Amino acid sequence: GRTSATGLLEALSVYTADLESALHYLLRVELATHDYLEGEELNIFKDFVTVVAKLYPVGGSVVKLMKTLSNWLSSIPLQRLSYQKVLDLVDNKMRIAGMFLGAELRWVGCQGSRAGLRGYPCSLWTLFHILTVQHDAMPTALENTGLEEEAAPVLQVMRRYMRTFFGCGECGRHFEQAAASSMDQVENKEDQILWLWDQHNRVNARLAGTLSDDPQFPKALWPGPTLCASCHEEKNGVHIWNRNKVLVFLRQHYGASNLSPKYSI
Ligand code: FAD
Repeated sequence: GRTSATGLLEALSVYTADLESALHYLLRVELATHDYLEGEELNIFKDFVTVVAKLYPVGGSVVKLMKTLSNWLSSIPLQRLSYQKVLDLVDNKMRIAGMFLGAELRWVGCQGSRAGLRGYPCSLWTLFHILTVQHDAMPTALENTGLEEEAAPVLQVMRRYMRTFFGCGECGRHFEQAAASSMDQVENKEDQILWLWDQHNRVNARLAGTLSDDPQFPKALWPGPTLCASCHEEKNGVHIWNRNKVLVFLRQHYGASNLSPKYSI
């Protein structure tokens, strides 16, 4: 680990282990609470898989799996899909690829100081921040997916996913409220990156000091001054963000070149 001058632990990199664990957890645990996917749920799941398959910034077996899943989902005319079918495909592809996906989830940047803290929700935030940055870096990646018509396709997919599948229903409702009140103001790919950053900070502020706050990783406005000094400014004694600097920082932090394949910090 790395301890900054303020005593807070702040990860400098983003770890593929967290992203892969997020996808494993999502496919094997979160979806498993639904026996069937049909109608709107099936569409939401398909769109999620498409966005990840198209925008995930690095290769690797989990992405290959998402691409296969995406092709398969768009080739079947089913209106109703049993979760077992999804699981069979995941298991088969994994076996063919020589991957054995045990119960093991490996959190690195998202490792909590004890069980039940951080982990999956942390990795899901991380994944979506990356997808917003990647959509800006590869503006045509969602062409011909049916999603490129939307002003903020990554946010819309996240919104629908959170509302429909995310294990913490209250979190999904909060996110839906926030989306309903301001997501329509997002006009371009830069706004999309900044909207998610701003929304995440609102959640951080709301959760600071509550039970879901890991004492080793206290919730705070992010990025703190040690990660990005130029992001912070002061006007008449009041803290303000330099949003241009924040955007530069987010593009770097969540950019493909800052992704680390390491399994420890
Ligand atoms: P997280 O908040 O999960 O952040 C993960 C990492 O992202 C941080 O370690 C940091 O490196 C980076 N980061 C932090 N802030 C930002 C930012 N502003 N922009 C970009 N990157 C940032 N829990 C509840 O109890 N109530 C809720 O209503 C709730 N709503 C949620 C909504 C969503 C969409 C998600 C994904 C999760 C929600 N959660 C909620 C869970 C909660 O937000 C945290 O994910 C969880 O408490 C774990 O916190 P963490 O310390 O690992 O950091």
